[in-house]
Amino acid sequence: MGIMGLRHVYACLAPQNVIYYLQVGMGLTQTNYIGGQKMKYARDSQCSKVYKAERTLPQHSQNGMSIEDVREFVDKIMDSRWLKGKYPDAYEYGKVVVKDGRGRRKAGGCHSYITMPKWSRSKMIVLHELAHAITERECGYPPVAWHGREFCSIFIALVRRWMGKDVGRDLKAAYKKYRVKHVVGG
Ligand SMILES: [Zn+2]
Repeated sequence: MGIMGLRHVYACLAPQNVIYYLQVGMGLTQTNYIGGQKMKYARDSQCSKVYKAERTLPQHSQNGMSIEDVREFVDKIMDSRWLKGKYPDAYEYGKVVVKDGRGRRKAGGCHSYITMPKWSRSKMIVLHELAHAITERECGYPPVAWHGREFCSIFIALVRRWMGKDVGRDLKAAYKKYRVKHVVGG
């Protein structure tokens, strides 16, 4: 499989979520206990639509950032007043570690780190993975879906602020076109 092929199979999996995905893929019900309460994972039903919409934007494949560029970009966001004001829980949690993804095909993100193999080092994919970290810190996985409306809303906000309003508008338009739910409470 060539590099273009790889790009099209990428999915953001934090290691602790792999079992969850296998179980969902097998049609099993996964539950988790939080604070003694039984919680059901939300199914990641819009995952493929989210990828399809994102890939229609040229910025998705504008890779070529070095791992240092990625770290600098992520640190700037995580230290920003913007994050502190908008997503205070995510801000308080502190830095997000950037791993270079050596030996891994897939990009990934969880509450404490993101993994960015060479092919995935575009601002847009960095923000996608960072949106997973922020969503997990703000909302928790579960109860929200991995690529649910909360994730999409945070991803749009990140893209608007750190890639520009025009790109944010294009992402929103792509979500509408592919019927991706991206409004929280909407
Ligand atoms: Zn993802």
